[in-house]
Amino acid sequence: MTQTNKSTERATEAKIGIFFDNSWHPSYNNRTIPVINPTNGNAFTEIAAGNAADIDCAVRAARAAFDGAWGQLSATERGRLLSNVGLLILEHFDELATLEALDTGKPMKQAKADITAAARYFEYYGAAADKVHGETIPFMNGFFVTTEHLPHGVTGHIIPWNYPAQMFGRSLAPALAMGNATVIKPAEDACLSSLRLAELCAEAGFPPGAINLVPGSGEVAGAALSSHPGIDFISFTGSPEVGSLVQIAAARNHIGCTLELGGKSPQIVFADADIEEVIPVVTAAIVQNAGQTCSAGARVLVENKILTEFTKKLSTAFSELVVGTPEMDLNLGPLINQTQHRRIKRYCDQAETDGVPLIASGRVADDVPAGGYFVAPRLYGPVPLDHPLAHEEVFGPVLSLIPFSDEEEAVKIANGTDYGLVAGVWSGDGSRAIRVGRRMVAGQVFINGYGAGGGIELPFGGMRKSGHGREKGFEALYEFSASRTLVIKHG
Ligand code: NAD
Repeated sequence: MTQTNKSTERATEAKIGIFFDNSWHPSYNNRTIPVINPTNGNAFTEIAAGNAADIDCAVRAARAAFDGAWGQLSATERGRLLSNVGLLILEHFDELATLEALDTGKPMKQAKADITAAARYFEYYGAAADKVHGETIPFMNGFFVTTEHLPHGVTGHIIPWNYPAQMFGRSLAPALAMGNATVIKPAEDACLSSLRLAELCAEAGFPPGAINLVPGSGEVAGAALSSHPGIDFISFTGSPEVGSLVQIAAARNHIGCTLELGGKSPQIVFADADIEEVIPVVTAAIVQNAGQTCSAGARVLVENKILTEFTKKLSTAFSELVVGTPEMDLNLGPLINQTQHRRIKRYCDQAETDGVPLIASGRVADDVPAGGYFVAPRLYGPVPLDHPLAHEEVFGPVLSLIPFSDEEEAVKIANGTDYGLVAGVWSGDGSRAIRVGRRMVAGQVFINGYGAGGGIELPFGGMRKSGHGREKGFEALYEFSASRTLVIKHG
């Protein structure tokens, strides 16, 4: 039996239900959602369609854990449990990578990188759990003042389908490190690895109720989680539209939230950049995960002086790209679902209608199955600044090339969208690269490099419509906690 078949079988036998108190339970309404294989459009298993009653069970389980055994553990003990999960993920590496590839359609090498990153989140936050210190604050004579960081209580986590296993680790590990009890609602389009990771958390020794998971649709289970009065904080990653709904729900309950809502991230390439170094990075930054990455480098801004040479080289790189199934392990896989497929096609059709030049495109491998959501990566340019391709998030393998004539214009164009997630600046002039980099409206800026989604240790998050709050690194630990100031009068 092949690894894929084993994973399919495992997914099919997967507990169709909701996960709370460390075991599977039937959902209240017994409804299910089919899980579609993006490489052929066929359903191969199903997941529970959790509803508000299921969310309520999960939140109650989390509250009991927070008030009980889980809440009693020391930071060191919590860290040890997280580290155990990291080890278990590595022990189940092939199984998880195969499941992730099957569920999302991504190439095996990308799925493997994702599972490594998922493990890394648990390793990182396992080691960090007992290293979050308060401070002492000079105050009036006769007083001693200190602060400590406390968990919020029960935290809700709504994650997207693009990097399911990574997102599970990115969202839950820092929350657990700080002592929160968690309820996660993974995305209906891809959540099989999350179901398995929840089981591995139980196996790692987490007390019942620390980690609870309710699969289901966004409109039902997601909305129920974000509006549940028993939630003390919510973390959301997904579209700006749903992000607004989550924030409104959080506001009604007077709780905090972090929102990570995507972007239209620019990379500025000055004429003195090392073009040979730039081309593969710019290409990878948009084709990684078929462009379905919040921090994808979706715009490349090129100084006019090198436009012809740069365009030629990038065009060659794009025309060599091939799309295929996970097993083919090519440059990129299919899009996640039919909606995404139609959406990307709509953008490309509009570009054609509007006369935006198609500079180059890759191709879909000849022998991919029929019915899959494959789309060839495309490079357009010069893209007019008022065209949707210049400022809207496509969330697919479509790169917009935009020329500029000087530093001032580059900064204006780069900062000229509603988003502000990541930016890249390429230049052989170190002073200019840093100067321009520091003018970017973005939560993360790369100088002479670019990392779409990389860096567990690096604080990450948006400005403007890209959202607010920070994940990853130590900053996530502060998001998932609140400080308390202790003022002691000693005379
Ligand atoms: P989405 O925002 O609808 O879904 C993200 C998560 O939110 C999923 O778990 C979903 O079930 C949940 N959700 C949906 N409606 C909800 C509601 N009313 N209340 C609470 N939770 C809800 O994203 P999508 O439809 O899967 O993708 C649409 C677009 O969103 C993409 O094309 C892309 O532009 C963007 N997106 C961004 C990211 C990112 O990483 N920032 C990830 C996925 C999608």
